[in-house]
Amino acid sequence: MRRSDLALEAGISEPTLQRAISELRREGWIGYEFSGRDTAGRRGGPLRLTRRAGLVVGVDVGRRHLRAAVADVHGNLLTQPIEPDEPIDVEDSGSALLHLVAKIVVRAVSSTAGEEAPYRLAEVRAIGVGVPSPVDARGVAVGMFLPQWSGLPLPEVLTELLAREAAERDEGLFPGLSIKVAKDADLGVLKAWQEHVEQQIEGDAELDRDRERGKHAGQNPSRARADDSLVFVKASTGVDAGLVCQGHLVTGSHGLAGQLGHMSVPHAPHDLSNSIGIRVREDRPTRRCRRCTRPLCLENLASGGAVLDQLERLRGDGDSPGSMEELVTQVRDQTAMTPLSHEAVVAAGTRVGLVLAEAVRVADPTRIVVGGLFALAGEVFMTPLRVAFSDAATGGLSAKIVSVPDAQVKRIELEGAIVLARKHLHFAGTPKPVAPA
Ligand SMILES: [Zn+2]
Repeated sequence: MRRSDLALEAGISEPTLQRAISELRREGWIGYEFSGRDTAGRRGGPLRLTRRAGLVVGVDVGRRHLRAAVADVHGNLLTQPIEPDEPIDVEDSGSALLHLVAKIVVRAVSSTAGEEAPYRLAEVRAIGVGVPSPVDARGVAVGMFLPQWSGLPLPEVLTELLAREAAERDEGLFPGLSIKVAKDADLGVLKAWQEHVEQQIEGDAELDRDRERGKHAGQNPSRARADDSLVFVKASTGVDAGLVCQGHLVTGSHGLAGQLGHMSVPHAPHDLSNSIGIRVREDRPTRRCRRCTRPLCLENLASGGAVLDQLERLRGDGDSPGSMEELVTQVRDQTAMTPLSHEAVVAAGTRVGLVLAEAVRVADPTRIVVGGLFALAGEVFMTPLRVAFSDAATGGLSAKIVSVPDAQVKRIELEGAIVLARKHLHFAGTPKPVAPA
């Protein structure tokens, strides 16, 4: 944001803004990057909030992973994400996992080495946590997605566990610490939306520069379009989706919005083309969906978990992959991929595309971003998804479908957790330090 825009936004004159900036610099709130370098030495140079403004932490709890990372209040990661030493399984671990979440937050903070004093828990002002279950607006796990967590007010439980961890280390928590919990696909959509808006702003800035140089005369910058909507699909061990409509995250009245995974697959089991072999085409899941109890919901047919079960059932071409990661690695390395794995992933992509085409009729999104481990299968998954979508999305729907870049697939929910935490930073009521004499 330029200083002139900042003054406009704050409703003050530029000289007043300049005085405020000088005062904030004097008191150590802005001016230095976390590394200690002065980035605001030049008048007119970029300004940043300092460590004094606090830290935020993002936590991503998946069905098979747990990651946490510490960021500055601008959302820049201060370290690589850290994970527990042992793999986790959220279905089996129950509330013990919440203790582990508290411990991993403490570890993330204490392993973040500042160039000055070590970071402390009390510096953390906001924590965003993603969980593989719908939660309501207060962060209470709803439905029977993770029965052992159902009805638990996750932010309160985590605050208490963290306070205990802090006390064991003779530390305290920041008095106004805010902990926000959301389902993981909602974090994916928050991050994807932030990037979408940033791209629009960058595109507009480019147009402005061109206009200044006399190019594109008469063309108006688009500005981040207020009517844009975006869907994030998490196609992984499970299938879920998050939705931002016109800039607002849509979670529904109980947190149950966006359940792409539990919609019925249209025309299943006759939905797959003849190019997919008869074994995969005629294969049916042997049990009902554990969450919605239906036999032919998308998750029971096309989630990573369902595909692994299917390959186990049909075996045939040798060993079946034991995990999603093994499956996508096989698919990426074409030589290791069996025809059966290939067909199963194509079938999954087709089914996600079919359901998506029906689901997005309620939202008419501008953009659909596909994340989750299936995004790592690349075009083997994405091409059938796009083809099925465009065949089924008749009547003018025209969302652009992109996948999350490989390097970001395992990180986007964590980055979204940091976006969520930053939305809940509060500075009001921060005690004013005594001014130097
Ligand atoms: Zn289901």
